[in-house]
Amino acid sequence: MIHTDTLHSLQAEVAAAHATLVAVSKTKPDDMILEAYREGQRDFGENYVQELVQKQANLPGDIRWHFIGHLQSNKVKQIAAFVHLIHGVDSFRLLQEIDKQAGKCGRVIDCLLQVHIASEETKFGLSAEEAETLVRSDEFRALQQVRIRGLMGMASNTADTWKVRDEFHVLGSLFRKLKTVIVAPENFDTLSMGMTGDYKIALQEGSTMIRIGSAIFGDRS
Ligand SMILES: *Cc1c(COP(=O)(O)O)cnc(C)c1O
Repeated sequence: MIHTDTLHSLQAEVAAAHATLVAVSKTKPDDMILEAYREGQRDFGENYVQELVQKQANLPGDIRWHFIGHLQSNKVKQIAAFVHLIHGVDSFRLLQEIDKQAGKCGRVIDCLLQVHIASEETKFGLSAEEAETLVRSDEFRALQQVRIRGLMGMASNTADTWKVRDEFHVLGSLFRKLKTVIVAPENFDTLSMGMTGDYKIALQEGSTMIRIGSAIFGDRS
């Protein structure tokens, strides 16, 4: 059973904020996804390639599948034909591979650059400087089959809401700055930030896309 009332209130909150709700269904079975689907939910997020490929094959064709995990270059080809948005791009090498596989499928794949905003140690995410250098580079501008739609980030996992707000604020500022730098600013419209514990702050700080798992589907074991 999913938390239907919570799903409905989240859907209303994002509609009021002109944002998008991505229901993060990782580790959850197909029937729970279908329950959310019947409540009108169409955007779902997964972070394991194998799990995403299986779910995509079994579930309705009009679901928009978001890849929100860390994507290895050698797995891009498995999702290139159908993925709606790749949130976690954190290297030029990965972007090149996405470009190549998108070309083979005859499509353009939308991507977000993942930026490291939390104070916690993690291998993932570009620094603000690296993100800016990437979008300014000629190599990046030469890619034809990928489109950078914006940025994605995760705040620190802390009860200090001021710190979380500050980190989201930093990402929001970078998003607005890069919009003035990128070649096609009209397509640079997505700021993916906010999860179950911090999405309200994220929306206040300009998020256009929240990624919510446990509030909808319950805790993951
Ligand atoms: C799991 C996950 C989420 C959802 O987290 P909840 O706290 O369950 O809402 C959001 N974003 C990413 C990148 C995730 O891996």
